[in-house]
Amino acid sequence: MMNQEDIQKLFVKALQSEGIKLTPQRQAVFSNIMNSEGHRECNDIHQSLIKDGIDVSRATIYRTLDILVNYNLIRKLVIGNDRAKYEKKIGKKHHDHMICIETGNIIEFENEEIEELQEQEAKKHGYQIVKHVHQLFVKPIKK
Ligand SMILES: [Zn+2]
Repeated sequence: MMNQEDIQKLFVKALQSEGIKLTPQRQAVFSNIMNSEGHRECNDIHQSLIKDGIDVSRATIYRTLDILVNYNLIRKLVIGNDRAKYEKKIGKKHHDHMICIETGNIIEFENEEIEELQEQEAKKHGYQIVKHVHQLFVKPIKK
């Protein structure tokens, strides 16, 4: 696992590659995500920053999130209706997601058998998996 210093360097490098300056606001967005284990919408992150007394526009948050997604530092989960949730990716253990289409609730899961089956399936076609995205869209079972 990477330490915080290495992760910070990747962030600075990502901004540099995009020709974007590291401002206290962008740093705050990044730190806020790296210090959270959750899956949150842009709005949630905005509220959290406001609570911390940090004044960042939603446009800045969106722009920063986009860059972080493109550089694989965070993950974007599209939950439907133009909504998306973000979570830190780097420094976090691999897991897959179940997304409730009614509430937007996200459940993390990991299933060794599924992982294994995916590997076998790729192999059957002469490939090895380099990464995978596995999302289940679910709704509650009505009793
Ligand atoms: Zn997750």
